Amino acid sequence: MLERLIATPMPLVLKNAFNLAHGSSDSRTNLLVRIGEGRGEVPIVPYYGIPSARLLEELDRASALLEEDPFRIDAVMARIDAPSAGFSAPARCGVDLALHDRVGKLLGIPLYRLFGLSPENIPPTSFTIAIDQPEVMATRARDSKLPILKIKLGKPEDLEIVRAVRLATSAKLRLDANGGWSREQALDLIPRLMDFDIELIEQPLAKEDVEGYAWLRSRLKAPIFADESLQSERDVLALRPGIDGIVVKLMKSGGLRGALRMMTLARALDLKVMLSCMIESSLGVTAAAHLGPLADYIDLDGPLLIANDPFRGLQYEGAQIHLPSGPGIGAEPVH
Ligand code: MG
Repeated sequence: MLERLIATPMPLVLKNAFNLAHGSSDSRTNLLVRIGEGRGEVPIVPYYGIPSARLLEELDRASALLEEDPFRIDAVMARIDAPSAGFSAPARCGVDLALHDRVGKLLGIPLYRLFGLSPENIPPTSFTIAIDQPEVMATRARDSKLPILKIKLGKPEDLEIVRAVRLATSAKLRLDANGGWSREQALDLIPRLMDFDIELIEQPLAKEDVEGYAWLRSRLKAPIFADESLQSERDVLALRPGIDGIVVKLMKSGGLRGALRMMTLARALDLKVMLSCMIESSLGVTAAAHLGPLADYIDLDGPLLIANDPFRGLQYEGAQIHLPSGPGIGAEPVH
């Protein structure tokens, strides 16, 4: 029997208003996708500008493209991933996750086993410190007691922020400017920021400034990762001359299969891989964590930022992620 795809809103309340270079918010409404026993999550990110109504329309259209045989994921995704089909990456992500979750449940094995991966090889995750006043960020960094922190930047006081955080903690620090600097600002700031023992810098330049990375690289030496500038595997080649690594998110890659393609391409080009997430429940983030053993860096703290996580899945022991042992994604609804 052909199973229909059902999509419903999944309201998420954030523990702290999330301030980024793009703006601030204290709630999100993602979409929950169900195909039979399979579940997937569609992250809705305000600054990507894809309205909920459009995603619901796409998911409704996707429902007609399913296969009767649940194992034929490639056939379904070939239709949905085709550029001419006009599906956005978040919608493709929701379908891909639900299809994989369903297959894992039918086989009775977790996704990491389906992919042949060893869960103890997941690197420890970073924890995000949202943009705020330097002393507030320093206090959060100290109170977190976590060994790897991602410091959000993109304000005039970036240097004071990093100085204050560095004084407050001996944690490894990764910086994420979320595209908040011009080329000249990045050129001026990065060498001074690197003096505070920084592991890497994410998305220093505007999303559209793809050539800026090579410009920057010819003028300074620092490990630079592209996040917003990389929206699909097609962007990896263009960015390659100026970057050291890419930030992979299921919402950008259109799910697990797309993430695997992106990671394979990065490996072939000698790029490092950071596996990251949007503001997503334990459903979407646990799905991503199943690919964790393939990443060099992990940034999967989404559920820690949510006050009303509707799913229970991956568990944190400090910075270490433990995958659930249940079949498929292994995330169970809390209610
Ligand atoms: Mg980022």
